[in-house]
Amino acid sequence: MYISSLWLSMERSKRIVFVSHCLLNQNVRAFSTEKYPGMIKELMDIFAESGVGIVQLPCPQIEMNGGLDRKLKQKSAYDNKQYRKYCTNLSSDILKSIEKYLQKNYKVLGIIGVEMSSTCGVHQIENGTKHSPGKGILMEELEELMHKKNFQVPIIGVNLNNMYNSLEKIQSLLKYA
Ligand code: SF4
Repeated sequence: MYISSLWLSMERSKRIVFVSHCLLNQNVRAFSTEKYPGMIKELMDIFAESGVGIVQLPCPQIEMNGGLDRKLKQKSAYDNKQYRKYCTNLSSDILKSIEKYLQKNYKVLGIIGVEMSSTCGVHQIENGTKHSPGKGILMEELEELMHKKNFQVPIIGVNLNNMYNSLEKIQSLLKYA
């Protein structure tokens, strides 16, 4: 009885974020680049506290390039026809999914990528021993497709080396979006 009345009192938030796979599962990171054993709890706590639903994106590198034991590679090593096609198709599926929410008046607050990644980087990518300005391949394809379809969802990058700053960015996204 108690449980059913609790369910009746809940309302869905209609607020969604789309999140790069490894933010919920560091086990898919390239070998030795994981920063947490599993999910990033501080990040998930923020989403849970604000009642935001999470859609976990697939990890393209796992699906297409070397699996769980792969080594860290620069963007140029991934940037071939096959991988780009995979990311283009994936972007199309992601945008279809986003559109489904938007059509029903849900708010898609953002897409959360991962800085320094050749695939999911938003402002910075790995370039040998240093980091350079640039976007990962999936984020490039997502942005281009959104541009073509004439809609915009904010894309924010989490920097695993600077979680404090990243959490602040996510908090302001949740507050003002
Ligand atoms: S950043 Fe993207 S490609 Fe890299 S491990 Fe995370 S989800 Fe996979």
